[in-house]
Amino acid sequence: MSNFNQESVLSVHHWTDTLFSFTTTRDPSFRFRNGEFTMIGLKVGEKPLIRAYSVASANYEDRLEFFSIKVPDGPLTSRLQHLKRGDEIIVSRKATGTLVIDNLEDGRNLYLIGTGTGLAPFLSVIKDPETYERFEKVVLLHGCRRVKELAYGEMITEKLPNDELIGDYVRNQLIYYPTVTRDPFRNRGRITDLITSGKLFSDIGLPSLDAAHDRVMICGSPALVTDTRALLNGRGFVEGNHGEPAQFVVEKAFAER
Ligand SMILES: Cc1cc2nc3c(=O)[nH]c(=O)nc-3n(C[C@H](O)[C@H](O)[C@H](O)COP(=O)(O)OP(=O)(O)OC[C@H]3O[C@@H](n4cnc5c(N)ncnc54)[C@H](O)[C@@H]3O)c2cc1C
Repeated sequence: MSNFNQESVLSVHHWTDTLFSFTTTRDPSFRFRNGEFTMIGLKVGEKPLIRAYSVASANYEDRLEFFSIKVPDGPLTSRLQHLKRGDEIIVSRKATGTLVIDNLEDGRNLYLIGTGTGLAPFLSVIKDPETYERFEKVVLLHGCRRVKELAYGEMITEKLPNDELIGDYVRNQLIYYPTVTRDPFRNRGRITDLITSGKLFSDIGLPSLDAAHDRVMICGSPALVTDTRALLNGRGFVEGNHGEPAQFVVEKAFAER
C-alpha cells in the first residue's frame, strides 16, 4: 500500500441517481497541479480496486473532492456510491494529466469544455488564481443530457463569486455556460454544434474561436474528445502536451472498455 495514502470521507453529496461527489481528508504530502487526475479506490479484501479520478478541489485546499459517475455494475463505482462519512478510501501519492495551464501557450481567452464528469478537472482550474492571471476571460462550458445533471452550477454562480481568494477574478473573468441536449433550458445543444453555429459566441459576447488568441481544454466522452479535436484541428489549433505547450489540450473523462 506504500503508493497510496489512506483518506477518510468527510462528506458525500448525491446529485442524481447516477452522479455524486464526495470530499476526503488530504495527506499534506499529496501534491498536484490543478486539472490533474490521480488514482483512487477501495481495498477489496487485501487488493486495491482503483480507477483514475480528476481532483475536483483546488491544490491549495486542505481536503480532496471528487465528482463521480455511478456505473451500474461498475467494479468500483457500484461500491463507491455507498460511501458515507468516516469511510476510508485509498488515494495514490501521485497525480498526473494534460489538463494543466502550463501545457498551454499564452493567449487571450481560455475555453474549458467538459461533458458529464468531465467537469471535474475544471472545477480546480477555475479556482486557481493563476488561471485568471494568464487569461482575460475563462469560459467554462458544461454539457449534459439533463438539467439535473448540471452539478456544481450553484457553487459556480453563487459561492465562487463571493470567495475570499478568487471572488474578484470569478466575478470579472469567469463565464459559465451550461448546456443540455434533452431538457428545455436556456442553453440547448451539443457544445460542438454551439461552437460551429456561432450561437455560443453570440450568447457570451466573444469572437469565434481563433487559434491566434484562444486556448482550449477538453474533457469528456471519447466521442466529445474526437469531435472537438477535429473541430479545433480544422481551425488550425495545435494540440499541446507535457513539455510541449500549444493551443489546446485534451483528456478523456473515461475510457471505453
Ligand atoms: C484520466 C481519467 C480521469 C477520470 N476521472 C474521472 C472522474 O473525475 N470522475 C469519474 O466519475 N470518472 C472518472 N474517470 C473514469 C473512472 O476511472 C472509472 O472508469 C469510473 O469511476 C467507473 O469505474 P467502475 O469501476 O465502476 O467502472 P469501469 O469498468 O471503470 O467503467 C465501465 C464503463 O462505464 C463508463 N464510464 C466510466 N466512467 C464514466 C464516466 N465518468 N462518465 C460516463 N461513463 C463512464 C464507460 O463506458 C466504461 O467503459 C476517469 C478516467 C480517466 C481515464
